[in-house]
Amino acid sequence: MENIAYYNGKVSSIEDMTIPMNERSSYFGDGVYDAMFTVDHVPLQLDDHLRRFYRSAKRIDIDIPMPFEELRAMVLDFCRRIDSPDAMAYVQTTRGVGMRGHAYRFAGGTPSLWVWVKPDMLDPMDRSYKCITMEDTRYLHCDIKTINLLPAVIYTQRAEEAGCDETILHRGERVTECAHSNVHILKDGVFKTAPCDNLILPGITRAHRIAQCREMGIPVVEEPFTLEEMMNADEVFFTSASALCCRIEEIDGKKVGGRDAELIARIQKAAWDEALAEVKAING
Ligand code: PLP
Repeated sequence: MENIAYYNGKVSSIEDMTIPMNERSSYFGDGVYDAMFTVDHVPLQLDDHLRRFYRSAKRIDIDIPMPFEELRAMVLDFCRRIDSPDAMAYVQTTRGVGMRGHAYRFAGGTPSLWVWVKPDMLDPMDRSYKCITMEDTRYLHCDIKTINLLPAVIYTQRAEEAGCDETILHRGERVTECAHSNVHILKDGVFKTAPCDNLILPGITRAHRIAQCREMGIPVVEEPFTLEEMMNADEVFFTSASALCCRIEEIDGKKVGGRDAELIARIQKAAWDEALAEVKAING
């Protein structure tokens, strides 16, 4: 099959699934989500993504109506059942369905659970990417993976209009993250990345790149960096579930990085090797 979806006990194709009008996702964006990408039908870092999903839900007082192991099995099963070996797997929970009213008591008592898997591809690491920058005017809970993504929609649209791939966000001089990824720099052999506070999403891919760099003896500094530092860095790259380690070559029309090709290539190789090892661990 081409794709597959689950919503509150129903299974169908994504196109055939219908959602009640009173879903609180549509009135309030009252929910959280997580997303993974597959290689050879295996969702990368599935456990980490699902753990973050349960954590995000707890942060907004939602009890996901399915135990971790059952959801894990469903995601794995869906990834295996669709035709495409390369796919995006998505999980979402919302406070539920009920007549519109802001307080939780209108939500009907049973949270909703959404799962779908559709064909998609990792962003290739053998090309470089172009970005724009924009002031980060999002709210102050960027560490929660909310489904309220209007800022990300607008930032992404602006990048597309500029013929670019991603938007790098900054609060004043301080670089935070991107519209849908984390951004990092290499300078004098050191991997520098913004700390995990309320201004960024603690990316699973970010954490894996940090752990791998530490294992490889590459120093990692989790401290804020400025726009100027980024523009003068040896390399600039972004990470997300779909971008294991993607090199940025141009920001706001100016060439950046390109001064430590060897180190970025090592990090990219380690990222891909880790993905292949994970696939092998599950597929044999
Ligand atoms: N930051 C934002 C705002 C995101 O939306 C994402 C991913 O969707 C990330 C960072 C990267 O997180 P992860 O590596 O867990 O996909």
